[in-house]
Amino acid sequence: MSPSQPAARLRAVPDPAPATADLDGTHRSVVVVGGGQAGLSVSRRLAQHGVDHLVLEARTAGHEWQDRRWDSFCLVTPNWQCRLPGFPYDGPDPDGFMVRDEITEYLQRFVASFAPPLVEGVRATSLRAGEEGSFRIGTDRGTVTADQVVVATGPYQVPRTPRMAERLPDEVTQLHSSQYRNPEQLPAGAVLVVGTGQSGCQIAEDLHLAGRTVHLATGTAPRVARFYRGRDCVAWLSEMGTYTKGIDQFADAEAVRHKTNHYVTGRDGGRDIDLRRFALEGMQLHGRLTGITGGRLRFAGDLRSNLDGADAVAEGIKDSIDAYIAAQGLDAPAEERTAPVWVPESDEPQEVDLAAAGITTVIWSTGYGRDDRWIELPVFDGRGYPTHERGVTSWPGLYFIGLPWQYTWGSGRFSGVADDAEHLVGRILETRRAARVADGLHWLAGTPSSTFPSDPAEDPDWVAPRSAS
Ligand SMILES: Cc1cc2nc3c(=O)[nH]c(=O)nc-3n(C[C@H](O)[C@H](O)[C@H](O)COP(=O)(O)OP(=O)(O)OC[C@H]3O[C@@H](n4cnc5c(N)ncnc54)[C@H](O)[C@@H]3O)c2cc1C
Repeated sequence: MSPSQPAARLRAVPDPAPATADLDGTHRSVVVVGGGQAGLSVSRRLAQHGVDHLVLEARTAGHEWQDRRWDSFCLVTPNWQCRLPGFPYDGPDPDGFMVRDEITEYLQRFVASFAPPLVEGVRATSLRAGEEGSFRIGTDRGTVTADQVVVATGPYQVPRTPRMAERLPDEVTQLHSSQYRNPEQLPAGAVLVVGTGQSGCQIAEDLHLAGRTVHLATGTAPRVARFYRGRDCVAWLSEMGTYTKGIDQFADAEAVRHKTNHYVTGRDGGRDIDLRRFALEGMQLHGRLTGITGGRLRFAGDLRSNLDGADAVAEGIKDSIDAYIAAQGLDAPAEERTAPVWVPESDEPQEVDLAAAGITTVIWSTGYGRDDRWIELPVFDGRGYPTHERGVTSWPGLYFIGLPWQYTWGSGRFSGVADDAEHLVGRILETRRAARVADGLHWLAGTPSSTFPSDPAEDPDWVAPRSAS
């Protein structure tokens, strides 16, 4: 099947279907928790190396794309960047942007291409240290043990909504961007979208194109132009090595990891998202939403700086493309820079009365958090975020995959997940080899395996064998 075949051919993504098999007592060399593109990429590599493993998926493989995206959703990254291991995009439109159902189908075909040992409808509820360096994974179908564990539970887990949401009057419908599907789902009236990350901007555009009155509370998210000097900016940046630059090459690595994505869209073949143009067409732009009191919304006076900041980033990216073209002596068409088509009239904080503005719905496009409380191992930082080096934690045998900027820009996206999976599976194999050597020597020499194999200080690539942890 080609990725462009219609949705009717797709397997519907069902509600969580509890696995019927009891997993209690199951042991695998590796257990992968999460059956999205990241967990499945690890599974594909493990299968290639003949490593016995199990993928536990709380719902259905790849369901995030179908269940938590709106109807008009399409990729922001071009199709050619979909590079799942051994399964690159092979459809008719590499420079296009797959829509939601096509992405789901791409993932389904990936699964079918290697038939992973996948158990759907099973949620991991606890992860603890087991005996002799193994792991105990509690699930709603019994306890599974493993020598090594890969956590692939997704970068965007828990919809995050600010507590000021509690102050909205009851008659206002509110939802998180992950619950938005289409304009018809919302009551009649104006809509306030809060947040200008990728979801907020695209949802605001979706409503705007449907003729709804939209208020948009902006933030400091940067933007990027879709095309520049004859090519998609993603193609330029890819050629410039931007997407393969490792996090260890950034002085401000932690800040980079937590930065908001640039806004742009792949809709209708791809275009810029220019909020100023939306304003000209009637969208009500505001600064950051700072408070809700007595049916009134308060916005900071930072709209101008938010728009200027986003544009400055987009122009800076164009500057770097210009510099690259000049340095390489490339023959690329010249392109005029354009002046802002709209500027805010005031820098003052604003207040908007919900009822007077006719706002009946608020869509919180305010991001996601993680919930790793089920992992009862000391690998988290003060914010509860996993600490790791390229997905390898300080706890021997425990890995993460799919984290934003796990190693490169492409980590946590279709473009970089195969490289990350390959790296992790390399570490998993090294650990297995080390453990086997230790066990073999132990058996031959009658020596405690914990004395083998070597001093980690002598070998920077050494990974502790399971028995030595
Ligand atoms: C709005 C939006 C737009 C995006 N657009 C793009 C884009 O254009 N291009 C791009 O490359 N990327 C994009 N991404 C980023 C990324 O590709 C997706 O978020 C992708 O789904 C991440 O894949 P994953 O496998 O890491 O996580 P997920 O797809 O979230 O998969 C994690 C899986 O783990 C399961 N799980 C969670 N907890 C447990 C548990 N305790 N036990 C068992 N299973 C569990 C979940 O059910 C889920 O199926 C976008 C993300 C969002 C939110």
